[in-house]
Amino acid sequence: MTEAPTLTERAAGNADLMIEIVGMHKWYGEFHVLKDINLSVRKGERIVVCGPSGSGKSTMIRCINRLEEHQRGRILVEGVELTEDVKKIELIRKEVGMVFQHFNLFPHLSVLDNCCLAPIWVRKMPRKLAEEQAMKYLERVQIANQAHKFPGQLSGGQQQRVAIARSLCMNPKIMLFDEPTSALDPEMIKEVLEVMTGLAEDGMTMVCVTHEMGFAKQVADRVIFMDAGQIVEENEPTEFFNNPRNERTRLFLSQIL
Ligand code: ADP
Ligand code: MG
Repeated sequence: MTEAPTLTERAAGNADLMIEIVGMHKWYGEFHVLKDINLSVRKGERIVVCGPSGSGKSTMIRCINRLEEHQRGRILVEGVELTEDVKKIELIRKEVGMVFQHFNLFPHLSVLDNCCLAPIWVRKMPRKLAEEQAMKYLERVQIANQAHKFPGQLSGGQQQRVAIARSLCMNPKIMLFDEPTSALDPEMIKEVLEVMTGLAEDGMTMVCVTHEMGFAKQVADRVIFMDAGQIVEENEPTEFFNNPRNERTRLFLSQIL
């Protein structure tokens, strides 16, 4: 098998590369789910990933923090190559925050404790400091007044904002979003997108799987379209929406816009 070429050389010349995926393949058993994925994300870039259900969007972003393993090609996050090395995986997970469709909050912990858990146990932060920091981020997502409630007592939009605050409490350098608004009622989508837009304005490096095309137009530096395990098209938003080149992109856009 040939090594992906000159990766370190390229990374050395691009000190601001946060994510580099080169010739990456993944299989679930016999099923070839990701086929030759190539993607570079620079510091501060906002990437939106879209595409039909089952095209491999979740799998791709889950590979970036090693929630899924790839079998071929290379993934580097801040220059660290993802391999089986557990220490490296721990390192990457500290740097890369992830927000899921179904929030994944701990139901038996208060909002505040949800936000303090990882800083205390992973970052070894004193509880008082962790709580102060949690309150700061809960204020930022405008939910500080709910800090002592349990997730089940909050609306979906509120839970998702807590999930974002919880991620921010680890001071991640990269944030991955996997359809963060698709489980929400329409009136709650906006409040979550506003938080994400704020993060983008603050310069966070973001990879967002979403079908919120208004958000993509407003915030994305690049839009990526996936189909059947491949990146089929990639462009800055205006070109992507006004002048899609691939037949499959056109079909997809005609169905969702
Ligand atoms: P998307 O997020 O674009 O909807 P996914 O990455 O979730 O796509 O899934 C891509 C394909 O891989 C789908 O056909 C899905 O059924 C399959 N798949 C996802 N997760 C697993 C898994 N853990 N085991 C086997 N197949 C899976
Ligand atoms: Mg998905």
